[in-house]
Amino acid sequence: MQIVVLKESAADEFRVALVPESVKKFVAAGNGISVEAGAGLLAGASDTNYEQAGAVISSNREELLQKADVLVSINHPDEEVLSKLKKGGIVIALLRPLDEPEKLQAFIENGLTAISLEMIPRTTRAQAMDVLSSMATIAGYKAVLLATEKLPRMLPMMTTAAGTIPPARVFVVGAGVAGLQAIATARRLGAVVEGFDIRAAAGEAVRSLGAKFLELENINAEGEGGYAKEIGEDVMDKARQLLTKTAANADCIITTAQIPGKRAPILITKEAVEAMKRGSVIVDLAGANGGNCELSKPNEIVNHNGVFIYAPTNLAATIPVHASQLFSRNVAALCNLLVKDGELNLDFSDDILNGSCVVHQGEIRNERTKTNYELRKTN
Ligand code: NAD
Repeated sequence: MQIVVLKESAADEFRVALVPESVKKFVAAGNGISVEAGAGLLAGASDTNYEQAGAVISSNREELLQKADVLVSINHPDEEVLSKLKKGGIVIALLRPLDEPEKLQAFIENGLTAISLEMIPRTTRAQAMDVLSSMATIAGYKAVLLATEKLPRMLPMMTTAAGTIPPARVFVVGAGVAGLQAIATARRLGAVVEGFDIRAAAGEAVRSLGAKFLELENINAEGEGGYAKEIGEDVMDKARQLLTKTAANADCIITTAQIPGKRAPILITKEAVEAMKRGSVIVDLAGANGGNCELSKPNEIVNHNGVFIYAPTNLAATIPVHASQLFSRNVAALCNLLVKDGELNLDFSDDILNGSCVVHQGEIRNERTKTNYELRKTN
């Protein structure tokens, strides 16, 4: 199997899809790996590191793409890249098939196969391949560091000769993977932390990290696969009222609430922001899907009456060495499923491949993806 890794093209992308550690294992298993020159530089891996791991380095993108059986990428490759792959070629990447289904058109036109890392089922067997969890862990951690850097106060309580400084209050909305990591990080830094989620099961996890869980009576919006499901506007209104009250006492709010394939719910309203103290900070991790804060603007800093709102859409990329390492290990675990006796073999009776392969040789084969793709085409 010939696996190819290109340099990512987005300006804010510092990660690389495979690091030398994984390349070495692929090569030892009899695969050929080719890496575009300079692909790993921003993630701490030089061309020499890749060569030492057994990869071939090339600056000729066209040649690389023509020989690829599998192209491994962090983000959705652009149309030009996809048009140069050979028919039947496989792309493994974060493809956002439910959020940007229209971008699958290039896979259909070029007869390609698309394996979407977001669609890997959240099962125990698939844990080693769970890129979403890896990246959410990093984003949750970095969100707290970003907020800490911008806050005009310290997080821990300090007892000094000049008197005692109380700990900062951090409020985390959405207690999935990113939210729990944000809670853990803020707790490590000494903040008083509160957490909120509409899945009741999140309560135990929040409390186990030493934070308080805010409860909305009789609400448990746990849906398929452990994800949250959409809730009615009446319940959302109650949630917003509770959050507005809590926001007024928070120095920092980190929001991570998402529902796969849908716009992120608006939970922190303009009114809630206006109830916050000057100098408070909001980090909205749902920015790529519309944001949890009514005033968020993706990748911009909004100053509303002295409250600073950040909505970075690619925080994991700002810790490129570890983000690439985890991504690479996750993808390597997934690739083991695609090979049998040294040959590419897509076995759709396997639930992981069945769930994550959204296009096979130019045909959309995932029902949710197909529905979203057709809806987008008609709108
Ligand atoms: P996500 O990124 O889709 O959402 C983040 C959080 O936002 C979730 O906890 C969700 O409940 C919450 N949320 C959604 N709407 C909300 C609202 N209106 N108000 C408040 N909170 C809201 O979720 P995720 O971090 O990817 O995790 C989703 C689930 O998958 C969790 O239950 C997690 O424990 C589970 N999971 C399982 C595995 C595994 O078994 N392998 C791995 C990772 C995650």
